[in-house]
Amino acid sequence: MAGEPQADCLFCKIVAGEVPATLVRESETTVAFRDINPQAPTHVLVIPRAHHPDAASVAAADPQLAADILREAGAVAADEHIDDSGYRIVLNTGAGAGQTVFHVHAHVLGGRGLNWPPG
Ligand code: IMP
Repeated sequence: MAGEPQADCLFCKIVAGEVPATLVRESETTVAFRDINPQAPTHVLVIPRAHHPDAASVAAADPQLAADILREAGAVAADEHIDDSGYRIVLNTGAGAGQTVFHVHAHVLGGRGLNWPPG
């Protein structure tokens, strides 16, 4: 059922505290933690506590939760002081686009120049 924890999901385990992570921010519906393999000076992942596989599915199942993820991504950028210089919110969707963890997560990247288009 949409939103239910998945036993084999790494990010559900981080939400449950079963896998350690460096948390930077929490809300009632989301958790934000540092990426284990940072691609920029600030690289934080914002995830919903509920399990949804990707951005489109969370937006369809729970539009408020999708909005919560974006709000928290912006709050992370402010907390990390990267909002003035510019930052990127990335939602890789599908293996072909580089998604490796199928629990939706917004990458918040900043603290360096960011090229466009991304690779
Ligand atoms: P994706 O490639 O868009 O699915 O992003 C998955 C991200 O999760 C990658 O940037 C990984 O470095 C990151 N990641 C994988 N395992 C962990 C972990 O245990 N803690 C924090 N980040 C992780």
